[in-house]
Amino acid sequence: MSQHDLIVVGAGPGGAHLAKEAAQLGLDVLVLERLSRNRVGDKVCGEGIALHHLKNAGIPYPTGKELGNTINSIDIYPPSMKNYITVSQRLEGEPCDGWTIDRIYFGQRLLGYAEKAGAHIQDHANVLDPIFDNGTVIGVKYKDTKTNALHEAHAKVTVDASGMSASLRRKMKDPNIEQKIALRDQAVCYREILELRAPFEPADRCWIIMDDQFSPGGYIWIFPRGGNVVNVGLGTQGGQGHRPKELFKHFLTTNPIFKGAKVIHGGGGAAPIRRPLWSYVANGIVFVGDTGCHVNPIHGGGIGSAIEAGHVAAPVIKQAIEAGDISTAGLWQFNVDYNQKGYGQKIASLDLMRHLLQEVGNEEFEFVINNRILTTEDLLRANAGEGLELSAIDKAGRLLRGLRKLGLLRRIQSVSRAMAKMLALYQTFPESPAQFDPWKLQVIQLYQDLGYQP
Ligand SMILES: Cc1cc2nc3c(=O)[nH]c(=O)nc-3n(C[C@H](O)[C@H](O)[C@H](O)COP(=O)(O)OP(=O)(O)OC[C@H]3O[C@@H](n4cnc5c(N)ncnc54)[C@H](O)[C@@H]3O)c2cc1C
Repeated sequence: MSQHDLIVVGAGPGGAHLAKEAAQLGLDVLVLERLSRNRVGDKVCGEGIALHHLKNAGIPYPTGKELGNTINSIDIYPPSMKNYITVSQRLEGEPCDGWTIDRIYFGQRLLGYAEKAGAHIQDHANVLDPIFDNGTVIGVKYKDTKTNALHEAHAKVTVDASGMSASLRRKMKDPNIEQKIALRDQAVCYREILELRAPFEPADRCWIIMDDQFSPGGYIWIFPRGGNVVNVGLGTQGGQGHRPKELFKHFLTTNPIFKGAKVIHGGGGAAPIRRPLWSYVANGIVFVGDTGCHVNPIHGGGIGSAIEAGHVAAPVIKQAIEAGDISTAGLWQFNVDYNQKGYGQKIASLDLMRHLLQEVGNEEFEFVINNRILTTEDLLRANAGEGLELSAIDKAGRLLRGLRKLGLLRRIQSVSRAMAKMLALYQTFPESPAQFDPWKLQVIQLYQDLGYQP
């Protein structure tokens, strides 16, 4: 048995970045990862990441083999693909909005940073169970998958960053730590990396297609990886009996650009698309990344928000260890920092918009985009978590154009108001666990008022 300050389960973006920052803060960190060292980062993914996440976490921008393409906008299409809305979020002085990346090169780079900072990486380590002492997590049991030997490792704090497998979270018995994520709150995806017969143009734009025939409750993406190579996939709402791979194969037949394409890699995966966990901490344990439901519920992007969660959690863990209080209350500041000022408030607000989008059908998508009912500015504000309130400019014109679908407009307005309220609630996230229950009831009420399940 080994003893550490911190055990991090999973060396994905969330775990690797947290391990690096915690080691830099002087903690003795053990990372347990079930993959072999050189496969870390190997995950079915759209491989798109926005620049602001790396900037916020102080990570150098991708270059060389890791870099697919530089991205300058995301274009959102309705099923007919006759019109689109462009969303671009350029930060002042920055060269682009984001990139497509090779996840293995990126994952290896993050892990390299953690190692360089002093974290010890144990690969082929499949974590099986938390070890509890009087209701506090004091370490984990894991299996060395090369020898099948069982081991224990102990630590003052343990982080579950094991992604969707949530290897420790699913064993927790705490009312604010959801063991399971409902299937309806998961995006179930299939994607292929394809080599087309001709270069994909324009190479600096990511395409999103909202089409509930092929991606019910989700969307189709086409992300350029450079030259003739594209990352194409689709997500569907889980638990509804959809078959993403079949839908994907059918979709490819509808567009001639895919004819004769060579499949470089194909595979499926899932991501949580819902509000964040009620609490990201319990006695002796912290949850980051997909395990903490730190994923943008609109587009399913979770690389950047996992990294940001690690960035916010590391100093809180260090402080709790120094203060000798690794209880829920001692670690609570992570909830406060990620929700009040960080990405948590945005996830919470956008989850209401996710519910709205899942109600809307193809005809409505066409209507909203073709009639310019929603504009780029509206979507940028919504993506910041601020709601979908139609901006004042041209509001009257848009209302006139939208009269045919008055019910839809009203629905957009009520969800919009609730999004703004949700944002405000998360910005005043309770400073201590003692104040949590009445706050939680207010969040539940916002969902219920719209007829959604929290
Ligand atoms: C099809 C698809 C497309 C996506 N596209 C995008 C995109 O374009 N952009 C974006 O930002 N996000 C995207 N995402 C989401 C993104 O992949 C995740 O949000 C992100 O990887 C989360 O990082 P993480 O560190 O929390 O978990 P992960 O990246 O899943 O890492 C978890 C790590 O834990 C390890 N692990 C798991 N269980 C154990 C165990 N029991 N013991 C030890 N180790 C364990 C795993 O091997 C892995 O290395 C996509 C997801 C899917 C499914």
